[in-house]
Amino acid sequence: MNDMLKELYHDLIVDHSKSPRNRRKLENPTSVVHGNNPLCGDDITVSISVKDNTITDIVFDGVGCAISIASASIMTESLKGKEVDEAKEFVKKFREMLINKDTLVTDELGKTVALAGVRMFPSRIKCALLAWHALDSALNQTGTSVSTE
Ligand code: ZN
Repeated sequence: MNDMLKELYHDLIVDHSKSPRNRRKLENPTSVVHGNNPLCGDDITVSISVKDNTITDIVFDGVGCAISIASASIMTESLKGKEVDEAKEFVKKFREMLINKDTLVTDELGKTVALAGVRMFPSRIKCALLAWHALDSALNQTGTSVSTE
């Protein structure tokens, strides 16, 4: 990755951490999952509304470090309007990109590739994945809370 791209990605993460998108509560969510990352103190709740198998709204709320907030913000922007199965697949690919250093970073993950650099910092991977863990649980209805530990 060249320096200009790195700079761009860095700016995107700073922008989303300072002005998070979709950081609010939902009136009538289909599913709400609370996520906790005790190692860093990130505490994020993800809420989604699903209608006709499509995510009609997705928001988050809570507190956390810049990476966890930026990741949650970018996630909500990336997945709103997607079909549930499509979203599940997206979560899987995003997780793979962060966990496996050898995964090719491709455009299909859109803006979320800005977070790929986090995989070089193992202690921060959990921060970046927290909201995604919560979303995964919300989509699969496997529980109302997740923890990275
Ligand atoms: Zn964190």
